[in-house]
Amino acid sequence: MKKRGETVASIGGGPSGVTLASLLAMRGVNVTVFEDGKRPDLIVGESLVPAIVPILRRLGIEERVAAIGLHKPGVSFTMPGRERVNFDFRNVARCNLPTYAYNVPRPVFDDILDARATELGARRVTTRAKLERDGDSRLRLGEETLAQAPWLEGRQPDLLVDSTGRSRLFARLLAIPSATGPRRDVAHFAHFEGFDENEPRGQVIIGWLQAGWNWRIPLPGRLSVGVVMNKDDAARLGITPEERLENAIARDPVLADAGPGRRRVSEVATYTNYQLISARGFGPGWAMTGDAFGFVDPMLSPGLWLALHSAELLSEHLDDLGAYSRRMRRQLAAWMEMISHYYSGRIFAMYHRGAEFSRKHQHEISRRIQLHFDTQVACMACGARTSSLYGRAALKVFSSRAVWGKEAPSMAIR
Ligand SMILES: Cc1cc2nc3c(=O)[nH]c(=O)nc-3n(C[C@H](O)[C@H](O)[C@H](O)COP(=O)(O)OP(=O)(O)OC[C@H]3O[C@@H](n4cnc5c(N)ncnc54)[C@H](O)[C@@H]3O)c2cc1C
Repeated sequence: MKKRGETVASIGGGPSGVTLASLLAMRGVNVTVFEDGKRPDLIVGESLVPAIVPILRRLGIEERVAAIGLHKPGVSFTMPGRERVNFDFRNVARCNLPTYAYNVPRPVFDDILDARATELGARRVTTRAKLERDGDSRLRLGEETLAQAPWLEGRQPDLLVDSTGRSRLFARLLAIPSATGPRRDVAHFAHFEGFDENEPRGQVIIGWLQAGWNWRIPLPGRLSVGVVMNKDDAARLGITPEERLENAIARDPVLADAGPGRRRVSEVATYTNYQLISARGFGPGWAMTGDAFGFVDPMLSPGLWLALHSAELLSEHLDDLGAYSRRMRRQLAAWMEMISHYYSGRIFAMYHRGAEFSRKHQHEISRRIQLHFDTQVACMACGARTSSLYGRAALKVFSSRAVWGKEAPSMAIR
């Protein structure tokens, strides 16, 4: 136990793996990243939340990210027949967060994180790492994989970290079960030119579809458009991902209107979107980070923040993996709960009723109540206070059917 953390190997060199490598290298830990290098040209995860900016600063790479990304001032939600709901990140100044985030082309963003880890002294091996089970709950690097990192001198690392994303290598090897959420959607997305510019510039737009929802994420010179829906509804739109994405856009009045002159400039990528949290996040000599630990949902874009934050938490708790796992689990559960309020329509019912109430009763008290709840929700959706007990309880009560959630079903995402 005393030696844990002296040598660490991250299996997987995506955002969570290389961020962990950077943070550990900064503290003088001998860290090796095994990455198979099989990253496609088009990767989901292009929209960041403000809570990620302090981590980028800590890594010393915010300027590089700003140079390849687009400033993101907020997120808007559009639903048929309703007023658009705008989240302005300026509201999160009250929870001590930067008042913006970025939209980033993922492969370039990943390269920046990766290069930083190397600059800071982390070592990288490009290989598909093989691990073996060593008893009931232990793991070891396979001999061939170990030999590819000669600086380890044939000794197993003190800590092995599963950063393999949705491959969930350790969970599969150790037959660790997971808790899944209610949604099992499929997402199709691509990059386009010729769509109308989102307003304000850089604003991410989430729209309701007849079934499911869509995103519009502005990137430098192009727009990422994605649709997320259950598999049966997707199948009704066509056989190929190209047909499905094209038909989803053409049949949605808002999307069709925004992109009559659209031109697809990338392939169409497909992801299955499950909501999943691993039943165990650590064991003797091993831990999980990022998607390998848990994947919440693309709604609200928490994935990369959770990936980088898990690396932060693990780097701070190398000697107490239980504490790391508890903190991470709390975050994942809080995000899952938060996102369920969006899917159920309760957040929007609360917003619309709150705005109506403020319009009718224009006095200082109602203005202050509105401001308080706008700030709470913004700070929770940005990652700063997602797991705050007060915020979670307040949201449950105020979005409940009994208060003003009766309308929620009409605003739910199918
Ligand atoms: C539809 C959809 C939309 C999303 N949109 C957003 C968004 O807008 N914003 C956001 O923040 N997040 C979003 N996400 C989530 C985000 O993409 C992930 O949370 C993030 O990529 C997780 O990073 P990671 O490092 O944990 O895993 P990954 O990025 O998956 O990295 C894992 C790495 O491990 C490597 N690997 C796997 N097995 C091995 C092995 N045996 N040996 C060596 N290497 C291996 C892989 O090649 C990969 O490079 C979205 C996800 C989905 C499904």
